Amino acid sequence: MDIKVLGAHNCEAKSSKFICLLIDDSLVIDAGGLTSSLSLQAQQKLRAILLTHQHYDHIRDIPALAMNLFLHQSNINIYSTLPVRDALATHLLNGELYPKFLEQPQQKPTIKFTIIEPGKTEQVEDYAILAVPVNHTNPTVGYQVTSPDGKSMFYTSDTGPGLTECWEQVSPQLLIAEVTAPDEYQDWAVQAGHLTPSLLKQELINFRELKGYLPRVVVVHMNPSLEKEIETEIESIANDLNSPITLAYEGMRLHL
Ligand SMILES: [Zn+2]
Ligand SMILES: [Zn+2]
Repeated sequence: MDIKVLGAHNCEAKSSKFICLLIDDSLVIDAGGLTSSLSLQAQQKLRAILLTHQHYDHIRDIPALAMNLFLHQSNINIYSTLPVRDALATHLLNGELYPKFLEQPQQKPTIKFTIIEPGKTEQVEDYAILAVPVNHTNPTVGYQVTSPDGKSMFYTSDTGPGLTECWEQVSPQLLIAEVTAPDEYQDWAVQAGHLTPSLLKQELINFRELKGYLPRVVVVHMNPSLEKEIETEIESIANDLNSPITLAYEGMRLHL
């Protein structure tokens, strides 16, 4: 499994893109910095997109991708829970902000949508996909993706603390976890459904107690203005846990 980090952050500027992961050039998780990272040809090779929740930084490039595919008489499979699909249909692809790509063209809509149920493993293209609820301000799932050769990764999406139930359901070799802000923002993070380095540390301690191991951890969704502090604190928790934890960046490649 080849994973490319197209977007690693929660804010967009010239040097940082909204969160977006590309697996084996065909499967996308969250559509932040998607179209701006891929050529038109690469966009047409995409087979499926998994969306974790409806926040703008995670769905932003869906309309742009749909327009590109529509103009090439192509289409794409998108998977999410029901609230995310409804939010896209109501607020974005509603015929007012942008065309209704979920319904049009009538014979073969540009977006073929499939609702997924958390806790139930489903086959998406070549991968076994498990959506697992996490703790955010609106309904959000993380995804475990397992390739045919048994390699697996879990991406937490946006989440606050309290992941024990989530950990019980997954056993990844690579964990892509969110850390949005440094420890001084802990009260805000708990309220907003996000993690700081110390909050992540506690979740990883719980993971190790439950599973008897720690996977390699890659951190995403950093606020770029606070990234230096996050990096310093992550280095220290990696030391404490004696386990590799690194910050993602745009263009980072991970191989399983
Ligand atoms: Zn969010
Ligand atoms: Zn986010």
